[in-house]
Amino acid sequence: MINVAIDGPAGAGKSTVAKAAAKKLGFIYVDTGALYRTVGVNALRKGIDPKDAEEVKATLDDIDVSLGFVDGSQHVFLNGEDVSEEIRLPASSMAASAVSAIPEVREFLLSLQRDIAKKNNCLMDGRDIGTVILPDAQYKFFFTASAEIRADRRCKELKEKGIPADYETVLAEIKERDYNDSHRETAPLKQADDAVLIDSSYMTIEEAVDKIVSYIKG
Ligand code: C5P
Repeated sequence: MINVAIDGPAGAGKSTVAKAAAKKLGFIYVDTGALYRTVGVNALRKGIDPKDAEEVKATLDDIDVSLGFVDGSQHVFLNGEDVSEEIRLPASSMAASAVSAIPEVREFLLSLQRDIAKKNNCLMDGRDIGTVILPDAQYKFFFTASAEIRADRRCKELKEKGIPADYETVLAEIKERDYNDSHRETAPLKQADDAVLIDSSYMTIEEAVDKIVSYIKG
């Protein structure tokens, strides 16, 4: 199978570019953030503080998180319930960032991600795909863009979905998530030594897609 690892901070354009590149290549696109978001949503629903490692760990015993693909697009299920929309709420983003720092949560989601990669040609998008989940992926890319540009993109995305978004709040949340993601002890966000760096700040989506596809097609 051909595995492509795509890592980088929130809003760097990974998901939009990876989705389009996957379509061109005929690969599946796997958004691993959805898995951490689902564990976060489960904690919020249970009234648990997502930062409380002991409480969050206890929830892992009786949850089932799975991914399904409907017409090529990914849906995520929590105990069989499709939570693909709920996980996109801003509160779910912060909860995901908090639970993702808990080593047992990362361990809990590891085999699910590796199994998908073993069975499919895929572009997998996350924070630690090239470093931890798929260190042997044939292709690795690390996306980046300034925090301000990423906040601007995230606001537009949320507004398109009808979710109210204030730029300053979104920017502060992006900076907080960047800090959490790159300073946690387990699997921090960092570029793999063998990843190609793509700064998407001033690139169009098409340019970034073409860059990835041309690397893979050779
Ligand atoms: O990619 P997305 O913004 O949906 O991810 C939500 C949160 O999940 C991130 O802020 C990060 O903390 C966490 N995450 C992670 N490892 C991944 C994917 C996401 O820690 N592979």
